[in-house]
Order: sequence, then C-alpha cells, then structure tokens
Amino acid sequence: MNTFTHELIKENLYRIIEKSGVCFYIFIGEDRALLFDSGYGLGNIREYIEKNITDKPVTLILSHGHLDHVGGAALFDEVYMNRDDDPVLFSFGTYEVRQSRFDEPVQPDYKGEIKNIRPYDEFDVGNETVVMLPVKGHTPGMMVPLLKKTRAAIFGDACGVGVLLFNEFSSCVSEYRESLLTLKKYENDYDLILRNHGTFCSEKDLLDNVIECCDLILAGKDDHHPVERMGKILYEAKQRDEKENRIDGKFGDILYTEDKAR
Ligand SMILES: [Zn+2]
Repeated sequence: MNTFTHELIKENLYRIIEKSGVCFYIFIGEDRALLFDSGYGLGNIREYIEKNITDKPVTLILSHGHLDHVGGAALFDEVYMNRDDDPVLFSFGTYEVRQSRFDEPVQPDYKGEIKNIRPYDEFDVGNETVVMLPVKGHTPGMMVPLLKKTRAAIFGDACGVGVLLFNEFSSCVSEYRESLLTLKKYENDYDLILRNHGTFCSEKDLLDNVIECCDLILAGKDDHHPVERMGKILYEAKQRDEKENRIDGKFGDILYTEDKAR
C-alpha cells in the first residue's frame, strides 16, 4: 500500500491522503506552496510532494497541535502554528505519542522554531490569499484557513461530524459556540468545506448543525448519548449509529465530556 495518494480538488488545490486514513491539503501558489497539516508523519511527505505535486518550496501551516496533523513537520524548513497550541503539541503531538500508534517508523519532532500564527493573519502566495480564522474549541489555538479566491474553508477538526471537546485543552461548549458564531460571519466567503477525517468534506449546513448542537447541550436538551472514546465516557449531542452517522440523518455533532456542558 502506498503511504500517500493525492487528488486535485480545485485549481491548484490538492488533497493528500496518508495511509492512516487522515488527509490534508496543499495549495500551489505562484512561487511557493502552502501545506495545511501533515498527518501522523508516516513516510516522507516532502519527497512525495516534490516528486508528484510541486517542486516549489513548501511552507507548512498547522491547524492545531494534535498527533494526526503535525507528524510531517520535521521535514519542512518553515512551519507555522498558533502558539496557543504549544501545550497541546507538547502533550499530544510528540514523536513518542505518534510512534506509539504505529509499527513502522514515524518522523521525529520538528527541531526548529515554530512561527506563530495570530488570528486573522494572512498568507499571500500571489494567486491566493489565505486568512487564518481562529476557532478555539477543540484546542485553544485551533485555526481554520480560509482560501479566499478558491472559496474553500478547511474546517479540519474545528467543526465537523463529531467535534471532540474532550480534555483539559478543549473549551467548554459556550466558549466553543462563540467561536462558531465568529466562523459563521465568513459563511458567504466559501462554498467548499474541507475536513481531515471520514468523508473529508461537508455540505454548508454543517456549521449551523453544530451551532444547534451547542444550543441543545446548553439547554440540557441534547441526546446526551454516552459513548466510550480514548478510555473516557463522552456524550454525543446527537446520537450516532455505529458508522458515526447521526441517526436523524443530519451531519454535524459534538462529543463532549460532562464538564464541558456549560
Ligand atoms: Zn485534533
């Protein structure tokens, strides 16, 4: 099995799929490429990109510090992340944590200085401008890159079919709801919602559905359906089936620990 495959999604925008099942995205700018996340660090993603996608220099932009997003960072010369996610990276993104998931080697940790991304910072690559929208919730430094000309928003783990609010670094539901309302202000600026897991993309009602989940949790009117994840009991705001689809047929859900329901 190949470590990576890729597919063109829109002009200059590719999805790369790591064999772990996680995907991430690369936009080919005029004189450099922007890579959004980098999987667990299986294989050599830099070589793969150079051979198969572009020979332009690559800047890596991490959406947040989790193990399945930061893994390839050591291979790149320039790496950005919102440094509010440092504690997440150092707890959940390290070589030890990533290697514990696989029998084959993963890339080591990034040794350089990670450059900070502040809310609404922009990356201009000539044929595209990317604005980094802060969506604190899943993690404190979680960012959604908005590709303005491409009209794509990479929601990643920030808002999806099973958003995890699950540990000491995640927001409570009311704080997360505020982040989603900020994201909603940009709703007319994108047509395409991209994610890193599962089906990899979503319809535009996803955001409203997840905001609705917040409202229901805060009102004590959600399904509050218990499931076990990572050795903990989490609650689905809307009950899902064994394929992780909502039983009411809608898309967008939150999985939260009891202490986040405020
Ligand atoms: Zn994550």
